Amino acid sequence: SCIAEKCAKTFGADPVFEKVSLRIDQGEIVCLMGPSGAGKTTLLRCLCGLELPEKGTISLSGTVLCQDGRWCDPIQYRQKIGLVFQNWNLFPHWTVLRNLTEAPVRLKGTSRKEAEKKALRLLEQLKIEQKAQAYPNSLSGGQKQRAAIARACMLAPEILCFDEPTSALDEQSALDVTQIIQDLAAQGLGILIVTHDEQFARRTGTRLVRLSELQSNS
Ligand code: ATP
Repeated sequence: SCIAEKCAKTFGADPVFEKVSLRIDQGEIVCLMGPSGAGKTTLLRCLCGLELPEKGTISLSGTVLCQDGRWCDPIQYRQKIGLVFQNWNLFPHWTVLRNLTEAPVRLKGTSRKEAEKKALRLLEQLKIEQKAQAYPNSLSGGQKQRAAIARACMLAPEILCFDEPTSALDEQSALDVTQIIQDLAAQGLGILIVTHDEQFARRTGTRLVRLSELQSNS
């Protein structure tokens, strides 16, 4: 499980949130909702180890990311959590396959052959194996999304996070994303989704939370 306890994040003099706690278990699909500017993306970035909260603790199956404003074990932690960015952040000058294989080859020392085998398996599972040699710009929004999900799965994360996964998708692709996410959860991943899309959250999530509900007074 990924556990954030009493986290606080401030930019300059402005507290974005204080005393926020959240737990994501294996197999769960947690949808994080709340008004624009409330700090949802900031919390997601903290949970992924991209921002350091100045208070609180974040851990994932025993690996502590940070504690009271200090990094503890960020390198190991970040390998256990994946993030699918809102605009996918695929590298445009690399093929889909290369986008998937680069992190395991460079970060984990996996052989290129091994990484490609795994990448093709994931692309197949997500039904875009025919795009392995294509460049991201030639993909539709839904295909880019699936390529980004496959890339995030390459390091076999325990938790997968999504920032507004349906914002750039048509209705059918958004329905496909629900199915993909539910399949991933059924395989045992814990899923965190930041979304404005109530309909998507209702049909996809096993738990809907508002950022305001995650704050404690004690
Ligand atoms: P939205 O739903 O519109 O995406 P959100 O709930 O995800 O909003 P955040 O993007 O987390 O909100 O932003 C929360 C607040 O933190 C905003 O007031 C934003 O301006 C501020 N903020 C976010 N990132 C930074 C940063 N790097 N530097 C300074 N302020 C920031």
